[in-house]
Order: sequence, then structure tokens, then C-alpha cells
Amino acid sequence: MRVRLRNPDRTVEVEGPCTVAELLDHLDVLPHTVLVLNDRALVTADHLLPADAEVEVRPVISGGAEGAPRCAVCRAPAVLEERRHRAAWCADHLADHVQNQIRKAIDHPPGLPAGERMCSYADRLLVAVSGGKDSLALWDALTEMGYRVDGLYVGLGIGGYSERSREVCAAFAAERGLDLHVVELAEEYGYTTPSGAGAAGRSTCGVCGLSKRYAFNRVAVDHGYDVLATGHNLDDEAATLLGNVLRWQESFLARQHPVLPATGANQVRKIKPMYRLSERESAAYCVVRGIDYVVEECPLVDGNTGHELKAAFDLLEAASPGLKAQFLFGFYDRQDRLVDPRAEEEVELAECGSCGMPTTGAVCAFCRQRELIVQALPVRTGAS
Ligand code: AMP
Ligand code: ZN
Ligand code: ZN
Repeated sequence: MRVRLRNPDRTVEVEGPCTVAELLDHLDVLPHTVLVLNDRALVTADHLLPADAEVEVRPVISGGAEGAPRCAVCRAPAVLEERRHRAAWCADHLADHVQNQIRKAIDHPPGLPAGERMCSYADRLLVAVSGGKDSLALWDALTEMGYRVDGLYVGLGIGGYSERSREVCAAFAAERGLDLHVVELAEEYGYTTPSGAGAAGRSTCGVCGLSKRYAFNRVAVDHGYDVLATGHNLDDEAATLLGNVLRWQESFLARQHPVLPATGANQVRKIKPMYRLSERESAAYCVVRGIDYVVEECPLVDGNTGHELKAAFDLLEAASPGLKAQFLFGFYDRQDRLVDPRAEEEVELAECGSCGMPTTGAVCAFCRQRELIVQALPVRTGAS
């Protein structure tokens, strides 16, 4: 069906049939803030809209023109406005809004059969925390929502930045009585991100990414967790998708999803429950929940193309609020039709001859990289 949204004026295609309530939920529009018209007649929440319906969603609450914005739920003065949602919230309802979006991500992941969730209350969850806003907001929210969830911090050895990050994660866990695993690359594997990149002659972001992904899975497997969660947000995932489309990286497009199932032994399911939330929403959540997080960016990130894409996409989003969400969620909704399943090759997974973790070759990419690094480094420390 064609749905016209106002302020700003735009049209989106939504698959039908569905009820008005389901449509508004899909669009993240609060029902009491709009009127819904089908063929120019008013319709109520339970009205079934046919697949070919022409729908208009018209805002009824004037937005802030005459004075300070008010909370969309309780009308108290708002602390955060999101143009994408055409809504604003007070501190309490902002926290609810963020948790509701995480709830929605977990209970209704895109493209999965109804009833299949990212994770359940029976699962043991491990959340990878960097000390930044997204992952700490996620740990806080999942804990508040009643999930069993421990944290994992990977020390990358990026000087004072890494030290401050570890301290913030440790303080967060201690204040709330939560369990945090800490893995220091230097102690465990004998290199840091900067020394490893220098020794391997690879980019710091490349060495860092491979080391983190490996450590996340390794700790989750070694300690018997069912699920690994990361704090990737809407801005991250939309920029990644844009990059994958611009370069037509079909195998990445086939694998980009907020839920990646474990496909064999020594693997855990990977989930991204923050994919519906912007960086702004997650930062604001930390502020209203009293979460201390590391505001500074990684000092090694310069020239990382992901950041350029984010900046470019921010310009588009400023001109058309909601574009990022429309791009990302729209992709997930039609991923199975847009991506040729042949792009995701059926690969045989075997055990790495060195560490036993899953790999497509004889020795996994992490062990090969580590071998390259420790051969070039003067001192070799740590276990395998
Ligand atoms: P980034 O790759 O820095 O954008 O981070 C994406 C997600 O990876 C974060 O939200 C965290 O969940 C996780 N992460 C990043 N760095 C670390 C780290 N040093 N230790 C643990 N988790 C991390
Ligand atoms: Zn409120
Ligand atoms: Zn290995």
C-alpha cells in the first residue's frame, strides 16, 4: 500500500494487508499523535487496510512551533526531540521509548518467521561493551528488561583511550553488580592493535576488527553463552548498508542482518538489538539513565571510510528525516527478494588447526594474522 506521511511530506510503500494499528507500529508512529485516512475517510486502529490501499497518516499534534516541545506520551516538557519520529519525550518516556525499540527489535526481527526472536529469557547473553554509549545503553536496557546478560570488554592497547574505556566498563559493572569479562589482546595474544598493525603491515581498523570479532566469539564459546550482542545502532547499520550498496558487495549484503544464527560448532548467535535506534537516542538514553560513557572517539579512526559515509548520510538525513530508517528497514523487509541467495556461498566450516575455532580453511584468519604479527614483533608473550 502507498502511505503518505506529512511534516515532512513523503510517501512510503508498505506491504499489506494489515490493520491501522499494525501499520502505525511498523512506521513507529504513536497512534494518538495522528489521524489515519484511507481513501480520504477516517479509519480506526482495528480497520483492515487492503494491500492496494491509499493511506494518509496526518499529524494532529502541532510540533513545537508555539513554544517548547512536549513529551508525546505525557505532555510534560520534553528533553529530546527526534524529527524522524516526529516526536519528543520527557526523560522517563525517552527511556521507555528506547527500551520499546529494543523490545521490538528482539521480538520482531525483520525477515524472520513470526514468533522467532533474537533471544529469549532462557538464553545466557554476552554483550560486547566498548565503553561507548551504544553498548553500555544496551547492557543497561537488557538488564532492566530482565535478561541474563554479562559483559565483555576487549582491551586493544590503544593507550589512554583503551584504559579509560576499560575503567568505564568496570565501573558500570561494579555499580550494578554485573559480571564483566576483560580480555587484553596484549596479555592473551601478545600484541596490541597499534603494534599488531605495524608488524602485520595491515590497517589498524582491519587488525582491530578481526581481533575483536575473534575475541567476542571465543569468550562466548569458552564460557557457554548462547548469544553475543553488540551495540551497532541505526547510524552504523545504515552507513554499512550504504557502503555495501555503493560497492555492490553482494556477499556482504547477503550477510548484513541484525540476527546471524550460529551455523556450526564453536559459534554463537550474534544479534544487534540497537539497530532501530539512532546514536542520538542512545546517547540521550545514557544521560537520562545516569550512565557514564567514554565520549571521545578512538584516536586511530581517521580516514576510516565508514565515518565518511556516516557524515554523507547525515546530510541526507538532515534534509529528509527518517531516510536512514527507511533505507535500512526497507532493505531488511525485502532482503530475501533483493539479494541473490547464491551470493551467500554455502561454505564448509572446519576447525582451525591452531585454535579449534570455525574456519573455511586449514587455519583461521585470526591465527594467520597473529602468526604474521608475532613473527615480526620483538617480544612474544601470552598463551595461544
Ligand atoms: P565499533 O566497531 O567500534 O563501531 O563498535 C561496534 C560494537 O562492537 C560496539 O557497540 C560494541 O558492542 C562492540 N565493541 C567495540 N569495541 C569493543 C571493545 N573494545 N570491547 C568490547 N566490545 C567492543
Ligand atoms: Zn513523558
Ligand atoms: Zn584459529
